[in-house]
Amino acid sequence: MLTARNLTKNYSNLPVLKGVDVTVNKGEIVTIVGSSGAGKSTLLHILGTLDTPTSGEVWLNDVNLTALKGNALADFRNRHMGFIFQFHHLLPEFTAIENVCVPGFIAGHNKNEVKKRAVFLLETLGLGHRVDHKPNELSGGEQQRVAVARALINNPDIVMADEPTGNLDSHNARELHQLFFQLRDQFQQTFIIVTHNEELAPLSDRQLVMKDGKML
Ligand code: ADP
Ligand code: ADP
Repeated sequence: MLTARNLTKNYSNLPVLKGVDVTVNKGEIVTIVGSSGAGKSTLLHILGTLDTPTSGEVWLNDVNLTALKGNALADFRNRHMGFIFQFHHLLPEFTAIENVCVPGFIAGHNKNEVKKRAVFLLETLGLGHRVDHKPNELSGGEQQRVAVARALINNPDIVMADEPTGNLDSHNARELHQLFFQLRDQFQQTFIIVTHNEELAPLSDRQLVMKDGKML
C-alpha cells in the first residue's frame, strides 16, 4: 500500500536519511524504533507528506506523493492520511465531537454523515459519554483517544503516529496501543508508529530499526 524508495534527506549538508526503503501493507501495524537522532521522525514526516525528501519517492497505492504540491497535496493528505502526535493538538474551544469532525468538514463531506461517523468512532473508542466534553475536561488518555478518532474520521488509508504514547502513563499507553490493534482487526486500519516505548514497540507486525539515517 505504502512504498518508499531510496529516500534521502539532507538538512543543509548534513545527511539525515541515507537511502531508506519502506513498504507497508494494508492492515499492518509497523513500528519504527531506534536511538534519538536516527531519523525516525524525519522519515515519518516524509512518508506522511509533511516534509519532502531530498531524493527518492513515496507512493500510496498508485499515487506518487512526491509529485503532489500545494492544495492538491493538502487535500490528498487530509483525505487519505491520519496523524497522531505525542501531544494531542486538540482545539481547546471545541468539544470532542467538534474536534473529530474538523477534517471531515475540511474534506467537504456531508455534515450529517461526518457527525454520525464521529459519534460512531468516539463510541468505538470508549468515549460515547464524552462527546460534548472539551479537551480540558478529559483525562490524558481520553484526549489522545479523541485525537485517534480525529485521525480516523476520513477513513484514511494509513495512520502515522509519532510517539503517540509519549505523553501517557504506562497504563494508558498500553490501552492506546491495544486500541490500534482493535482498529486494525475491526477496520483493517494500517498504522506506522514511531515509538521509544520498549515494551510496546515489539507488539507489532513488524519492527523497523533505524540507525544513523539507515534502516537496519
Ligand atoms: P529521531 O526521530 O530518530 O530522533 P529525527 O528525524 O528527529 O530523529 O532527527 C534526525 C537528525 O536530523 C538529527 O540529527 C536532527 O538533529 C536532525 N534534524 C531534524 N530536523 C532538522 C531540521 N529541521 N533542521 C536540521 N536538522 C534537523
Ligand atoms: P486517567 O485514568 O486517564 O489518568 P484521570 O484520573 O485523569 O484519568 O481522570 C479520571 C476521570 O475524570 C476521567 O474520566 C476524566 O474524564 C475526568 N476528568 C479528568 N479531568 C477532568 C476535568 N478537569 N474536568 C472534568 N472531568 C475530568
